[in-house]
Amino acid sequence: MPETDYDLIIAGGGPAGLTAGLYAGRAMLKTLLLERMILGGQAASTFLIENYPGFPDGIPGPELSQAMEKQAKNFGLIIENGEINSLRPSGKFWEIETGGRIIRSKAVIITTGVEPNKLGVPGEEELKGRGVSYCATCDGPFFREQEIGVVGGGDSAVDEALYLTRFARKVYLIHRRNAFRAEKILQDRAFKNPKIEILWDTVVTKVVGQNGVDGLEVRNVKTQEAKGLKVGGVFFYVGWLPLTGFLKGVISLDAKGYVTTDPNMATSAPGIFAAGDVRQKTLRQVATAVGDGAIAAFSAEKYIESL
Ligand code: NAP
Repeated sequence: MPETDYDLIIAGGGPAGLTAGLYAGRAMLKTLLLERMILGGQAASTFLIENYPGFPDGIPGPELSQAMEKQAKNFGLIIENGEINSLRPSGKFWEIETGGRIIRSKAVIITTGVEPNKLGVPGEEELKGRGVSYCATCDGPFFREQEIGVVGGGDSAVDEALYLTRFARKVYLIHRRNAFRAEKILQDRAFKNPKIEILWDTVVTKVVGQNGVDGLEVRNVKTQEAKGLKVGGVFFYVGWLPLTGFLKGVISLDAKGYVTTDPNMATSAPGIFAAGDVRQKTLRQVATAVGDGAIAAFSAEKYIESL
């Protein structure tokens, strides 16, 4: 096999990708994992993961990510910084274009995950990185003793609002409906936290500020009452978009762009598998990502054997 040919290429280094890498290593497959940003994916920027089994007191996301990386490398996984720009079939191989070079692999596992959805209101894009954030763990400490907003009603919004009360004096949790979809235990903590004020049935219509965030314009969708909130920052947790642009026309995606797979993590194209948050599924957690990753690597191994 030429030096640039691999048995398996894994696109994305979150829990799904690192688990696939671990299993591929143990299956003695020559495997390259490409990660464009930081290993660990979303888990790496989670302050404390409380629902991954085996850690009764929770485990900091970065610690879990580093342990997964070390474990996969122990079994021979090669990790490089990079991403797949395009891929096309070529005989028994997939030709992958990454960073201006072409590499070949017999199988590919897509674990590229998701990126934060933008709300798309005026001021959001302009003030990104200057008070508008999508990562509480990264930016929370900048808002010590300030009043801030968190937008959304899922696990991320409620969990991160709770985390942000470590720094902020007050957190407005702004949700467009009158019920959260977050886990009940997180809701309960938010209801009991004196630093959190929940604004139900409320949408953000504008982020206000010039060089930094000075406030938000919000509107109650039931009463239509509009008002201003004076906040120094705002964190948006209004869902996610799958990172699958490079896969359009290569494998089947659902209407939202998530990869559709069978129970073996096989996609519509032979030799391409998918695992983790990028896959069409009902529960996106570290616990489900690692299961996906293990199955995808097992299926890739069987596919390679069949060639
Ligand atoms: P999510 O479950 O998709 O929730 C997105 C939230 O944003 C929803 O409350 C939604 O409102 C709101 N929203 C969407 N579009 C909006 C818009 N245009 N304007 C205003 N609000 C809008 O996303 P998530 O909370 O990030 O969770 C994603 C996945 O990660 C889930 O599977 C979750 O379980 C998992 N996760 C788990 C944990 C944990 O276990 N602790 C932590 C983080 C994430 P509606 O409710 O009205 O639709």
